[in-house]
Amino acid sequence: MKDLVEIAVIGGGPAGMMAAARAAELGAQVVLIEKNNKLGNKLLLTGKGRCNFTHYELDIRKFAERFGRKGRFLYSALSVFGVKEVIDFFDSRGVKAQIEQGDRVFPEKGTAQDILNILIKYLEENKVNILLNSEVLDLQINNNNFKLLLKNKQLNAKRIILCTGGKSYPQTGSTGDGYIWAKKMGHTIIHPVPALNPVKTEESWVKDLQGLSLKNVALFLFQKGKKQDERFGEMLFTHFGISGPIVMDMSKKIGELLKNGPVKLILDLKPALSFSQLDQRVQRDWREFRGRKFKNSLKKLLPLSMIPVVIRLSGIDPEKKVDYIDREERNRLVHWIKEMKLTPSGLLGFNWSIVTSGGISLKEVNPDTMQSRKVRNLYLAGEILDLDGPSGGYNLQACWSTGYLAGEKAVDQN
Ligand SMILES: Cc1cc2nc3c(=O)[nH]c(=O)nc-3n(C[C@H](O)[C@H](O)[C@H](O)COP(=O)(O)OP(=O)(O)OC[C@H]3O[C@@H](n4cnc5c(N)ncnc54)[C@H](O)[C@@H]3O)c2cc1C
Repeated sequence: MKDLVEIAVIGGGPAGMMAAARAAELGAQVVLIEKNNKLGNKLLLTGKGRCNFTHYELDIRKFAERFGRKGRFLYSALSVFGVKEVIDFFDSRGVKAQIEQGDRVFPEKGTAQDILNILIKYLEENKVNILLNSEVLDLQINNNNFKLLLKNKQLNAKRIILCTGGKSYPQTGSTGDGYIWAKKMGHTIIHPVPALNPVKTEESWVKDLQGLSLKNVALFLFQKGKKQDERFGEMLFTHFGISGPIVMDMSKKIGELLKNGPVKLILDLKPALSFSQLDQRVQRDWREFRGRKFKNSLKKLLPLSMIPVVIRLSGIDPEKKVDYIDREERNRLVHWIKEMKLTPSGLLGFNWSIVTSGGISLKEVNPDTMQSRKVRNLYLAGEILDLDGPSGGYNLQACWSTGYLAGEKAVDQN
């Protein structure tokens, strides 16, 4: 058959690049097809351009647990190409790993571009035929092979590794195309929704805090008075609401709960102090600031941009001298610092979601090979699968692991 390639990998993101290069390294004839004019568009955005390329958790079970119950699907892939292997892979090619706060792993020096360069070199060394500007318009089963329809040509392949990603940040090329073909070929698609997504909030004062980043705060999620989730760490105020790691990690749950009704967030700005300890702390500060106005008395306690907002929320006259603030007023202040209420109105959506939750049902993919249980010679890897982890390098690791295993097993089938 004309133009029959051994393995066609669709999608030049982290999973596709890893799958294509590994298959070629094992001797297969591989073509990697990418719709953009360059590989790894989304990869370049990761970790704010620094690429948090894995998470330092060497225990496979503990790593997989962070993906929830579905995480078990990753056991085989992680045991073949896990966190240590990924760190060694990049290290041996010139990018040393640095373990940062929260066990996030970044390049010690350099950026996401350096990670991408290593992958491109890995592809080139192994003679992968890279087709850029080559959007796949349709993928069909054709006798025992696959037919790929591109804009100006048709390709035939014996085996396919489908790595078109999810639907997040569609501006990078991930527009969910793979779901459509997989569905046509008999796969179940678990409805894709945005995850690791900034959260819109109703409160108008949030805008005044735009750009303020908070460390070591606690965030609690409630629905109908019942606590649904809690997180501790970093968050950020934006012009529309809130973002940052703890918000992103909670966003999927917020999105799910909002379908059933309103939810509340409670932000504790001083989780290390109990209410009474914070009250004592305020009193101590105010003894020091005796004779000063309330508006000038919170500098030691709160970030500067937060002070006017907390003053407004507390309802205490900013001009009042601290000496005259009574116990009830002080209580109100302490409550706002420990229980700042925020009302989520929705998520920002796919355009700003770091990953997609949902995708190709894991029940229909063999976790030991990444081969489809529905379609022979079809392999799946990366974010296209119904698997999403928290922020911190988990999602890229899942792409490296599943991509590598898919590449290896697609060759095994020879
Ligand atoms: C802003 C941002 C920051 C992030 N930071 C991190 C981080 O620091 N750490 C981490 O672990 N994760 C991070 N992620 C998540 C991570 O980038 C993704 O999980 C990962 O890129 C998914 O890889 P993938 O190969 O499965 O898919 P993608 O990276 O989405 O790649 C899919 C590729 O397929 C191509 N494609 C799609 N359709 C077609 C078609 N029809 N024809 C041809 N090609 C097609 C696309 O153009 C794209 O290049 C971040 C994501 C974003 C958006």
